[in-house]
Amino acid sequence: MVTATFRFYEELNDFLAPVRRKREFTVPCARAATTKHMIEALGVPHTEVELILVNGESVDFNRQLEDGDRVAVYPRFVAMDVTPLLRLREKPLRELRFVADAHLGGLAHMLRMLGFDTLYDNHFQDDAIVAIAEQDGRIVLTRDRELLKRRPVTHGCYVHALKSEAQLREIVERLDLARSARPFTLCLHCNTLLHPVDKASVLDRLPPRVQVLYEHFSTCDACGRVYWEGSHWRNMRRLLDELVCPTNKQAEPNEPRHGHPAS
Ligand SMILES: [Zn+2]
Repeated sequence: MVTATFRFYEELNDFLAPVRRKREFTVPCARAATTKHMIEALGVPHTEVELILVNGESVDFNRQLEDGDRVAVYPRFVAMDVTPLLRLREKPLRELRFVADAHLGGLAHMLRMLGFDTLYDNHFQDDAIVAIAEQDGRIVLTRDRELLKRRPVTHGCYVHALKSEAQLREIVERLDLARSARPFTLCLHCNTLLHPVDKASVLDRLPPRVQVLYEHFSTCDACGRVYWEGSHWRNMRRLLDELVCPTNKQAEPNEPRHGHPAS
């Protein structure tokens, strides 16, 4: 019988049975089992794994386990330099786009606020999410580890946090989203691009107070909603500034501002 010794690092331990966390343990492996097969059998979705070392050498998901192998499994984006080693995904997704499962509406909404194309519908079934991810090259966001184990899902994030604000923080950190954020460029309802409009052209759709107080507006072609820099907007801005620029640094001067508030 083939047995191998495993050690999982950092947050990958959350997926393991408590007795196996943060320690080496030895388990029997099925004949011809691969690293991917065993890692998922132990409860860890492969999308969460960045690097696998077997006996100190980096291997891919297809490495067959042999008796006595020592397997170290690292999550994505741990603070270690893995560049000289084999990364499991040679091709990063060119554009960061997401599909969120039916329980992550709050997170999806906030990702749209940051300008990330995020599909979400609270009627999405798992099969639909998998199909969308495969077809559009979207990153699956979920708290359902079984969903991440589905074969066509190549890029996914298991979301550990429970509250949407903490979830956003987690995803921004994990995927290093801060520099590619384009806040307030997407319709929060339709996920489509907003564009600036003249005040005159939307005047009749504005509440009287807004007509007086605000000068800059943008609109969504899909649903016709008009956006302006009101108090709701400012609250979101505060949250985003904290996430995107924790040190409160100025944005790059050549970054498009899309007419959003300077203060
Ligand atoms: Zn819209």
